[in-house]
Amino acid sequence: MSKLDGTLSRVEEIRKDFPLICGSPFAYLDNAATTQKPQVVIDALTEVYRRYNANVHRGVYEISERATEAYEGARSKTANFIGAQDSASIIFTKNATEAINLVAYAWGERFVGADDEIVLTEMEHHSNIVPWQLLARRRGAKVKFVPFEPATGKPLWGELKNLLNNRTKLVAFSHVSNSLGTINPVPEIIRDIRRLSTARVLVDGAQGVPHLPVHVGEWDCDFLAFSAHKMLGPTGIGVLWAKKEVLESMDPFLGGGDMIKEVSLDGAKWNDLPWKFEAGTPNYADAIAFGAALDYLNRVGSDYIWRHEQELTAATLEWLGKMPGVALYGTKTAPERCGVVSFNLKGVHPHDAGTLLAREGIAVRVGHHCNMPLMKRLGIMGTTRASFYIYNTLREVEALVEAIPKVQRIFA
Ligand code: PMP
Repeated sequence: MSKLDGTLSRVEEIRKDFPLICGSPFAYLDNAATTQKPQVVIDALTEVYRRYNANVHRGVYEISERATEAYEGARSKTANFIGAQDSASIIFTKNATEAINLVAYAWGERFVGADDEIVLTEMEHHSNIVPWQLLARRRGAKVKFVPFEPATGKPLWGELKNLLNNRTKLVAFSHVSNSLGTINPVPEIIRDIRRLSTARVLVDGAQGVPHLPVHVGEWDCDFLAFSAHKMLGPTGIGVLWAKKEVLESMDPFLGGGDMIKEVSLDGAKWNDLPWKFEAGTPNYADAIAFGAALDYLNRVGSDYIWRHEQELTAATLEWLGKMPGVALYGTKTAPERCGVVSFNLKGVHPHDAGTLLAREGIAVRVGHHCNMPLMKRLGIMGTTRASFYIYNTLREVEALVEAIPKVQRIFA
C-alpha cells in the first residue's frame, strides 16, 4: 500500500492502489456485487503464474513446495482474519454460494431428516435460501422464515421463540443484508438460538466479513460462509469456516484426489481436515492472491473501513432522504447498516434509473439483488442500489445525488 500520511486524504491515497478506479471519472458504487482489486492482489496473482506455478501438496520440488506454503499460508491468514483458532477449519471453496451448498449437502444429508426444520429469514440472499429448499425437498424437511419488517428494515428476531422447536436442525441468516445493508446483531441472535434450541447456526458472511470485524470464536456460530471477491480478492475463491467437531462429523462433499488418505477397490479413507473437503486441484493461485487482499485490508484497518463507510452511508441517507420522489428502504440511520443504500425514484423503473445513472458516470446495481422474497415483502419489484467500499469518496456520493434530478426530469 502507498504511504498514507501525504497531503491527500487517506481515501485519495487508497485510490492510488486501485488501477481500475484511480483517476477514473466513473463512480464505482456496486461494491456489494463485487469489489475492485488493489495492485498488490493483481501482483500476487501474476507472481504465482510467473514465478512458482505448480500443483500444491504433491510436488517434492522447489516451486511446488513454495506454492503449497503460500496456499496454506493464505489459509492461516484467512483464519486470523475471522478470529478462527485453527486453520484446519478453513475450507476453500469457489464462493460463498458453494460454501453454503457444501453445508447443505455434506452436513444436511447426514443430519436433516423427514419433518425436521430449517429456519431462515425473509431477508436472505437466494444463496442462503435455495440450497435449503433443495435439501428440504430431498429430505422431506420444512423451511420456515423469520418475517422481515419493512418499517424497521430488520427481521423480526423476536419471532424466533415461536419458530424454534425440538425439530429445528439449523438456523441460517446473513450478518449483513446485501440489498439494505441491515446489520444483524449476530452474537445476540446466536445466544437466543442457543437458549431456545440445539440447532446448528450458519452465518452468511458474504456482506459482513468484508466490512465489519468478525470473530467466529466469540460468536459461537457453527458455520460461516463468505467470498473473496467482495473483499478485494479475486473471483473464484470463497471460504467455509466451521467448528472442527462439526466438520469431523460430516461426510465429504465431493470425492476425488487430495481428499483421501487411502483408496482401495472397496472404499476410501478420508484425508484430515481441511483437505477432506477440498477434492481435486484447489484454486491455489486465487487463494494466494486472496491472502494478499487480507494483508491489504489488515493494513487499512477495520476502524477506517467502518468510519469511512459510515460517513458515506450517512451522507447518502441524509441527502437522498431530503429529495422529493425518492423512496429509501431499510433502517433509517447509518449505524444500523453497512455501506448499502437501496432506493427507488417515483415513476421510474430501477432499470431505467440505473441505465441513466450509468450515462452520468455512476455504476449502481438495479433489480431484485437475488432477494426476491425480501422485495415481495417490501411490495416492490426491485431497487436501485448504491454500495460503498474503502475507496469511494464523498464526491462520488454527491455525483449520485446530483444525477438523480436529471433522471427524474427525463421521466417527469
Ligand atoms: N450472500 C449474500 C448476502 C450475498 O450478497 C451474496 C452475493 N451477492 C452471496 C451470498 C453469494 O455470494 P457469491 O455470489 O460470491 O457466491
